[in-house]
Amino acid sequence: MYSPYIVHIGSSCCGCGACAQRCVRGNLEFAGELAELKKDYVCVGCMACVKWCPTHALAVEPAKPVSTYLRAR
Ligand code: SF4
Ligand code: SF4
Repeated sequence: MYSPYIVHIGSSCCGCGACAQRCVRGNLEFAGELAELKKDYVCVGCMACVKWCPTHALAVEPAKPVSTYLRAR
């Protein structure tokens, strides 16, 4: 499935689990000790994970340039 936003998990992740608890789409999981994105995740860009991550490990960006969405309106 197509995700309109791309999520990046940086190396500063400490595995606290805050992102997984707050993601409205359940996009994050823990296979080991650190956060991982589920296969075929669909991010809606709500930024809850970014807001609550204590180590600023997460970044969320549009999958396409914003101008692409503006042209489509
Ligand atoms: S931005 Fe929102 S939907 Fe996307 S991964 Fe973070 S909490 Fe989940
Ligand atoms: S909230 Fe941040 S530090 Fe905590 S598990 Fe998620 S990415 Fe890692």
